[in-house]
Amino acid sequence: MATQIAAPPKARLIEVFSAIQGEGMNVGTRQIFIRFALCDLRCHFCDSAHTWSVPEVCQIEKTPGWRDFETHPNPVMLTDLLSWVERQNQPGLHDSISLTGGEPLLSAPFLVQFLPEVRSLTDLPIYLETGGHRPEQLSQLLPYLDSIGMDIKLPSVSGENRWQAHQEFLQLCGNSQLEVFVKIIISSQTNPAELEQAGELVASVNPAIPIFLQPVTALPGEVLVVVPAPDRVLEWQALMKRFVKQVRVIPQTHKMMNQL
Ligand code: SF4
Repeated sequence: MATQIAAPPKARLIEVFSAIQGEGMNVGTRQIFIRFALCDLRCHFCDSAHTWSVPEVCQIEKTPGWRDFETHPNPVMLTDLLSWVERQNQPGLHDSISLTGGEPLLSAPFLVQFLPEVRSLTDLPIYLETGGHRPEQLSQLLPYLDSIGMDIKLPSVSGENRWQAHQEFLQLCGNSQLEVFVKIIISSQTNPAELEQAGELVASVNPAIPIFLQPVTALPGEVLVVVPAPDRVLEWQALMKRFVKQVRVIPQTHKMMNQL
């Protein structure tokens, strides 16, 4: 019987481009963004609903930062994505490569093959931006990552309840040697008891893991999403500092700078 050779996995992409990271630990640094299609969560505050499904074509920037996008049909070949990353990677320009979405861990079967190739191409650090709820897929990718920014979704703000998965996910991060931070979106709806629960969760893994509180960006006409009052933000930062050492408040700075 003939041996069946598995077809190489393909990526379902939204876009590839060069930009300034606007959130979390890497804020202000220059990254090559690889944005994967699909997400299995439905956060109330999501401003990336266009990533929930796979578009027919993806947008690929030709020159880093020029926004001179060309379109390619989805899904894309591993070798094509590799060549687009190589084209973006001009000497000295970027600080890291960001795997983002959507939920990039839904592309784990592709990433397991893609990331070792990226490693052989460049020594740029590889940063994973994730909802923090897919520990099984994370464990497959840990050998190829340098840093992880994971969300803890507060049910009162996001409508998602993923405590158990967040706990397992952060424990895996804590057991690794990788740099990790936690991002929590806060809004006027934030339940402080959930913030405490998140603080306890992070502290139980490692109180040295930084937490970034990110006031939600109001969406036009969206009643569920209201920016928190300034005094509440001060209160909640103080509350979180009872659990972990570093609690920083940073809004989405790329939107202030009119970046992608
Ligand atoms: S995890 Fe991100 S992309 Fe997915 S629904 Fe939530 S905010 Fe949107």
